[in-house]
Amino acid sequence: MERFEFNLATEDDTVEFGRQLSQACNQQTTIFLHGDLGAGKTTFSRGFIRSLGHVGNVKSPTYTLVEPYELDQWQVYHFDLYRLADPEELEFMGIRDYFTDDAICLVEWPERGQGLLPNPDIDIDIRYDGEARHVVITGNNEYGCSLVQRLDLC
Ligand code: ADP
Ligand code: MG
Repeated sequence: MERFEFNLATEDDTVEFGRQLSQACNQQTTIFLHGDLGAGKTTFSRGFIRSLGHVGNVKSPTYTLVEPYELDQWQVYHFDLYRLADPEELEFMGIRDYFTDDAICLVEWPERGQGLLPNPDIDIDIRYDGEARHVVITGNNEYGCSLVQRLDLC
């Protein structure tokens, strides 16, 4: 396990964090994003998804649960499980089919889908720290650790 902590002073820093992590990914990747409403999970995801070639908005898929992005090299699935009423909804939407070989999955509010999601390569915890944000990033396996080690921010 590899664990780093750092601060993100501005929204742009959070976007840059997403960009760096996206550029390090070189295989199927699952990232869990923890933190309160407004912490910056979607801001991170915006930096991540745009850096992989998406032009345009990245909004939390609060009502649809998942937003797919078909990008040049990757299929990115951006989940927001905040409004998940019953984890069984994930079964109905065929959750396992999303975690395929060429997929990168970013999951906001993964706690709501506990037991039905695969284990993440990386956990990212974003906390309020005044105007800034405090981040704890954990690599949970060999691949996840290698991603964390490649970040300039740590
Ligand atoms: P979440 O998806 O975690 O609910 P969002 O990314 O949608 O959060 O919103 C984060 C909000 O906090 C935005 O309004 C953004 O402008 C603001 N913000 C202020 N400072 C930061 C920072 N350092 N990182 C990310 N967002 C920040
Ligand atoms: Mg969000």
